[in-house]
Amino acid sequence: MKQSQLRAIPAVEKVLLALGDTDLPRPIVLGVVRRELAALRTQKSIPAFDAVLASARDALSELRASRIRPLINGTGILIHTNFGRAPLGPDVIQALSNIGSSYSNLEYGLAGGTRGGRAAYLERSLAALCEAEAATVVNNNAAALVLILRHFCQADAAISERTGRAGSRKAAPRKNEVIISRGELIQIGGGFRIPDILETSGARLREVGTTNKTSLQDYGRAMGRETALILKVHRSNFFMDGFVESAQAEEIAALARKKRVPFVEDLGSGAMIETQTAAGLEHEPTPAEVIGRRVDLVCFSGDKLLGGPQAGIIAGKAKLIAALKRDPFFRALRCDKLILSALEATADIYLRGQGGIPVLEMLHASNDDLRSRAEKIRSALDGLPIKARVGEGQAQIGGGTLPRSAIASVTLDLVHGAIKPQEIAARLRDHAVPVIGYVARGSLKLDLRTIFPRQDAELIAAIRAVCR
Ligand SMILES: *Cc1c(COP(=O)(O)O)cnc(C)c1O
Repeated sequence: MKQSQLRAIPAVEKVLLALGDTDLPRPIVLGVVRRELAALRTQKSIPAFDAVLASARDALSELRASRIRPLINGTGILIHTNFGRAPLGPDVIQALSNIGSSYSNLEYGLAGGTRGGRAAYLERSLAALCEAEAATVVNNNAAALVLILRHFCQADAAISERTGRAGSRKAAPRKNEVIISRGELIQIGGGFRIPDILETSGARLREVGTTNKTSLQDYGRAMGRETALILKVHRSNFFMDGFVESAQAEEIAALARKKRVPFVEDLGSGAMIETQTAAGLEHEPTPAEVIGRRVDLVCFSGDKLLGGPQAGIIAGKAKLIAALKRDPFFRALRCDKLILSALEATADIYLRGQGGIPVLEMLHASNDDLRSRAEKIRSALDGLPIKARVGEGQAQIGGGTLPRSAIASVTLDLVHGAIKPQEIAARLRDHAVPVIGYVARGSLKLDLRTIFPRQDAELIAAIRAVCR
């Protein structure tokens, strides 16, 4: 009989003792060890104790690496959904800390000493920013869209069910049809498809026009007794060029008003700034601009170009906003106090015209400044076996926003005689403060635009560590 077949599965305690301090809570380590040992039972032969230990260590490292932690974003993608989208600035962090660490008047009227409205000040700020009658906020833009669709497509059915007017359903057809251009049936990021969102919301899709052309007449012909609303979705993550046509928002708005159905636009990003003033960017419609075209409701994300926390902002007609807030489903989508305070601080920055939105500061950073930082980092790496050069790159907005954006930027390019750039990339990702770059033309490139100046020292330390 071979030696391995004689070996018994080691005891949990023995493995735990040998692992020593893993920097993870004991119940988590215990779980990993139990799983590892259980897996041995299915094996023909039991490996040596050292091998069992090594495999448990690997599993723990993998688990440890999956803990949420800061990283250095050298990709040049400003709003990276995998990296948590918009980082928050100091004023916003201060607000989070103040409100998070204490009791607050979240839903309390200080004047009367009674229950008060939630997010009343924030709603005013958002309405002012969007130049709209009213505004409100939910967990993200996907939730905003679901709330709007559910509300306007199920409201009628719910009312007739509640009042027991069963017969009236036949007389009045169910108003749950949403009219949308075929050119706007888009997918955003992982698994967010407009047709699926419509379906889960109880809406029926009424596609009009073609992929590249949709006219006002297409919308007009589709309008009927079952029309619940007209939806326009901003093509935020791709562009169409060539033989294309879409109806003007003003014209669709007039049609919707005549037929007394709401006209809703999902803007996606919700830039408050004139993006085209930054070199390499096109114009991204602002919520105020869309409201100005007489769209009834507009919705957008809080953590894309707005540069705030994850949220879905809805702005527009006061009557419609009030109706959405009365919908019982609104309660299930409401934001917590941390988000509300962070968003309040973000809106304040815009209303006061101050700086302090990291995404916008990165967007507007001058290449001269980026170059002088890159030079400093490069000279700090002198004498290492790795060669560093100051190079050029193209930063992007990302997050499914302004797909054609190409912002000229400055990179630090790393080349090592003996280590492939892919291997340098892997080692940097594995560093205590992970550094993420991209490989191009034989070097690992790190775009300075998305690296905070305060991270430069950490970046130097990481590069030193990986080429040792
Ligand atoms: C990003 C995006 C969404 C989803 O927004 P979340 O805040 O991520 O839920 C919806 N619609 C459009 C057009 C988008 O660009």
